[in-house]
Formats: sequence, structure tokens, C-alpha cells
Amino acid sequence: MGRRALILGPPGAGKGTQAAMLCKAIGIPHMSTGEMLRDHVSRGTDLGARAKVIMEAGDLVPDDIVIAMVKERLTAEDARCGFLLDGFPRTAPQAEALDREVADQPLEVVINLEVDEEELVGRMLARGRADDTEETVRNRFVVYRRQTEPLIEHYEKQGLIRTVDGLGTIEEVFGRICTALAS
Ligand code: AMP
Repeated sequence: MGRRALILGPPGAGKGTQAAMLCKAIGIPHMSTGEMLRDHVSRGTDLGARAKVIMEAGDLVPDDIVIAMVKERLTAEDARCGFLLDGFPRTAPQAEALDREVADQPLEVVINLEVDEEELVGRMLARGRADDTEETVRNRFVVYRRQTEPLIEHYEKQGLIRTVDGLGTIEEVFGRICTALAS
């Protein structure tokens, strides 16, 4: 399978869990912008203080901030053998910045994890993260549909999309991802 990959999907679809499993299985670094931002929040950095309010509302952190974070992460030694981006890109400018950044070694595959919204809202409220109040969760969906979903077409045009049904147990979904990547 491609070792330069990203995973797209609505909030709560299980991207983080699946991405971590996949990275462990194939030995590539897992790059989650949500995790990077949560790390800033817990370390109490200036960026963390700015991001916290935005994340609690379910809005997106400004493009320039996340783009700079990902660019820096992609220059690290371990990214040379590949990477799986999780939660990035979320907007058209982020996708365009990423295209430019990886121009000499383009992405090879985009996993599109599909799950029905009502199922997801229930799951997210059950997982009880601090930024998972019902209002925040609903807003994350509005933001997803408006800003991130159009990226499926962006990558469809590049012939990179592999759509996977995200409904089922963690193992079932992981199995589907592996099958989709092998094809
Ligand atoms: P996640 O863990 O991917 O669900 O991300 C949690 C939160 O971090 C999101 O709801 C956003 O507020 C913020 N975030 C993560 N990735 C990005 C991104 N690529 N662009 C803007 N905000 C992001």
C-alpha cells in the first residue's frame, strides 16, 4: 500500500483509532493535528491557549497555524519512510498547502471513512471528551460538511480516494481498511 496517506471522515468516525492501528501495523508515523493541538493545550503554550477556546466550540483552528505545524512535522526524519495524516487537511487551503508541500513525493492514498451522522453524534457523546458537548458535536458536523467534505472531491480528482464503511467493530472496520488498501 501507499506509505504517504491520509484519512478523512466526519468527526467521531474513528479516524484516530484506525489511524493508530494502521500506523502500528505498517510502521509509519501517525500525524494527528488534533493530538498536536491537545498537546499544546495540556502544556499550556500560547498556541494552546488560543486553540483551546476554538476547539471547545468545535470550530477550526486557523489554517496558518495548523499548516505550519504539519509542515514542521513532515520535515522530521521519521516522515521520510511515509506518514498517515489524521485530521488534516480540513479545509481547501490546507489541502492546497499540503499538495505543494508533498509535490515531489505526492500522496499515494486517501482513506475516506464513511459513517452516518446520527450514529456518530451518539458515539461522540458517549466518549465524553471535554470538547464533546452536544452543541460542540453538532457544530463540528456543520464545519465538517461545509469545509472538509468537499475535500473528498479534491482527492477524487487525484484518483486517491478509497471509501470504507466505518460502521461496525474496530476490528471489522480495520479489516475493511486493510482490504481497501491492498486493492
Ligand atoms: P480531532 O482530534 O481531529 O477531532 O481535532 C480536534 C479539534 O482540533 C478540532 O475540532 C479542531 O478544533 C482542531 N483541529 C484539529 N485538526 C485541525 C485542522 N486540520 N484544522 C483546524 N483545526 C483542527
